[in-house]
Amino acid sequence: MGKLRFRSRLTLNLIWLIGISMLGAGLLMVTLFERSHIEELKQNLLRELKVLVITDDWQHTGEEESLIAYYTERLHQLRESAGARLTYVRQDGVVLGDSEHDPWTMDNHLGREEIAKALQNGTGFVIRHSSTLKQNMLYAALLIQDDQTGAKIGVLRISMSLADVEAAVQKFWMYLIIGMFVLFIIVSYVSYRIARSITRPIEKMTRVAKQIAERNYHSRVAVSRHDEVGQLAEAINQMSDSLRTQMDRIYENEGRLNSILEHIRFGVIMVHQDGKIVLINPTAERLIGFTRDELLGQPFTSERYPLPFTKLIEVCIQRGEHVREEQVLHFPEERLVEINVTPIGADKDKVNGFLIVIHDITELRRLERMRSEFVANVSHELKTPIASVQGFSETLLSGALDDRETARSFIQIIYHESERLNRLVGDLLDLSKIESKRSPLQLSAVDLNQVIDNSLQMVDTVAENKKIKLVKKLSDPIYLEADEDRLQQILMNLLSNGINYTPEGGTVTISAELDDKHDQDEPGHVQIVVSDTGIGIPEEDLPRIFERFYRVDKARSRSSGGTGLGLSIVKHLVELHHGTIRVESEVGIGTQFTIILPIIQ
Ligand code: ADP
Repeated sequence: MGKLRFRSRLTLNLIWLIGISMLGAGLLMVTLFERSHIEELKQNLLRELKVLVITDDWQHTGEEESLIAYYTERLHQLRESAGARLTYVRQDGVVLGDSEHDPWTMDNHLGREEIAKALQNGTGFVIRHSSTLKQNMLYAALLIQDDQTGAKIGVLRISMSLADVEAAVQKFWMYLIIGMFVLFIIVSYVSYRIARSITRPIEKMTRVAKQIAERNYHSRVAVSRHDEVGQLAEAINQMSDSLRTQMDRIYENEGRLNSILEHIRFGVIMVHQDGKIVLINPTAERLIGFTRDELLGQPFTSERYPLPFTKLIEVCIQRGEHVREEQVLHFPEERLVEINVTPIGADKDKVNGFLIVIHDITELRRLERMRSEFVANVSHELKTPIASVQGFSETLLSGALDDRETARSFIQIIYHESERLNRLVGDLLDLSKIESKRSPLQLSAVDLNQVIDNSLQMVDTVAENKKIKLVKKLSDPIYLEADEDRLQQILMNLLSNGINYTPEGGTVTISAELDDKHDQDEPGHVQIVVSDTGIGIPEEDLPRIFERFYRVDKARSRSSGGTGLGLSIVKHLVELHHGTIRVESEVGIGTQFTIILPIIQ
């Protein structure tokens, strides 16, 4: 639509111009033609008049009546040779003769323009519409003077119809119009072609420029000429090329920045200098509990979506420098965060906005707390046996050594405590090795039946002493990929716990079976269950029993020689094998530990 309008407007303008100039030229030609025609006619009439004046006698005398008769007669004769109407007017305006009309019916002709002009200047020409003949007439009048005195005698007038001239002019007009029309058509066609040759490439370029504006940077103008239009097309193509490279670079950078913001574990919020939030990443959304859609475009002071660190931003605005604070967030969940607000801008005086970085330090602080608690626990655990070793050896040194019986029992206690100390240090070293992953698993194909037998054998004596029945349930042979020693360590820990926390006469059962849900795609799992008929674990303690040094009953654990680290080591070892461990227990009935391990690591 637009291109049609564009092209036709140019063509129309051209055609208008051509039409108007052709019309002007035509009018000028016709006018000149008409004028020269009439001028020639005038000269002819004048010549004729001059001949008539010389060849005839215009000074006839006599009565007016006879004069009129004479001249009328004479002019009638002359009309034949002149081929035009002749009138003779005396110098006082009285018509003395006329080749066409009766002079008696004609009024005084002094008022006729051509007569007046002739009387004054010698000649007079006038074009007038004759009401009698109903056509335009050319009147030429010549003054007749006395040869000697030069006195004005009269005026001889000749008149001719302009019908012939007008017909000729009309014909001329007709040819001119036809000629001009044909010329007009040709010129219009040619100018249309010219206009099109100019506008077509411009239209193409406009289309491409629009596509570029719509981000289609692959659009190109076909360049086939080397003139200015071709150069323009070339320039548009180059512009599109450079735009594309630049946009690619921008998109690439934007993509990088976005993926950083999407995946970074810091919450990032950006506030524009007008106080509106312009950027927020997923971590920040999660930490403050509002979505991007809710916050973007909102002022940071919004009451609808209150930010927990509005005050801090205000402090930053006031001071004009970076501020940092640790804060507890209560919504959507309780979190300890470190908030950093930094003014951003070209320099200190020109602040464009604020960058808020939120760092969730809940876990960090929990780990720090755990570590210090662990150190305190370890010290405490070590202190107890050391204190009793120290106490008993002191008593021995201060005299008890002499009483052989007492000395023997004291030394027995010292031996027990040092053994405990040894176990504790052993477990601690083990745990730290496993946790720091310093000792990788020695994987091999393990015969589970064999491992269970070995473990049972190791705890056999203790069980027997406590009159506890050990039961093994294993139908088919099971092989799995595991670290044999570690696997045995797991089972031993669970079995000895079962024996420890089960009163005399109880039963500890170990069973294993293959997870029958496995198929070709999944290698399958083995499930090992260690259960006892012991004292059980209260429900509120269940979630914590895998923690280091956590015991339900401290005295009981200690008296049975426990370190409080066994289950913690078990859990770590199971996880190293990519397995899971869970516990079910009922106080007074028994406890059951279930381990699920993959057959192939
Ligand atoms: P401990 O060396 O004290 O046995 P563990 O880490 O092996 O330490 O176990 C932690 C605590 O879990 C124990 O102190 C005990 O209270 C409880 N517990 C573990 N196994 C059993 C079980 N089979 N029956 C009852 N309580 C158990």
